[in-house]
Amino acid sequence: MRNEKALVIFSGGQDSTTCLAQAVRDYGKGNVSCITFHYGQRHGLEVEVARTVAAHFGVSDHKVISLDWYRQITTNALLDPGLAIAKADASACPNTVVDGRNMMFLLIAAVYAKSLGIRDLITGVCETDFSGYPDCRDVFIKSCNVTLNLAMAYEFRVLTPLMDLTKAETWALAERLGVLEYVREHTLTCYNGVVGRGCGTCPSCVLRQRGYEAYRLSKGA
Ligand code: ZN
Repeated sequence: MRNEKALVIFSGGQDSTTCLAQAVRDYGKGNVSCITFHYGQRHGLEVEVARTVAAHFGVSDHKVISLDWYRQITTNALLDPGLAIAKADASACPNTVVDGRNMMFLLIAAVYAKSLGIRDLITGVCETDFSGYPDCRDVFIKSCNVTLNLAMAYEFRVLTPLMDLTKAETWALAERLGVLEYVREHTLTCYNGVVGRGCGTCPSCVLRQRGYEAYRLSKGA
């Protein structure tokens, strides 16, 4: 177990819950904090799910930060209930991209982490399945890490345990951590706000389900 502390950027979804479970295993729950951002998502329910999941893993330091003003400077289908979520299209950015989101999250998380004496920032971003999201790319995360260190004269380590994993491999990781069923039943990834297995039809649910089926196939199930 690492003799350090970590701050997990935590949404209560499949990916960040898997990261949280791994962090609790690696650092010990008393050394893990998490931070959740509310930025006018369609479903404030996401925050409630995040609170429940963090408590489930025994993480008591859970900071929830409101970024309600984000909607004043940009919009997209996650922030604006009037916009339909477009079907995932490999050739273009999905219209659920929130410009600058991960950079904003990392900056705020880093400020909070430094105030707690924490260097390790953990985020569940992944470039394997999300080629349309520029701020999920490894090159962005590495660049941002350098910038944060320069901005605050501090040695942050931005860790991205899921960066190179497919969704199927993330399910396999959840299984190795012993949390597969918990992730499947209690996390929220669905754009329509259906906890657990989701609505089954939104792009996020389709991706999650496709990954789960690939995971099951890889197990020979
Ligand atoms: Zn859904």
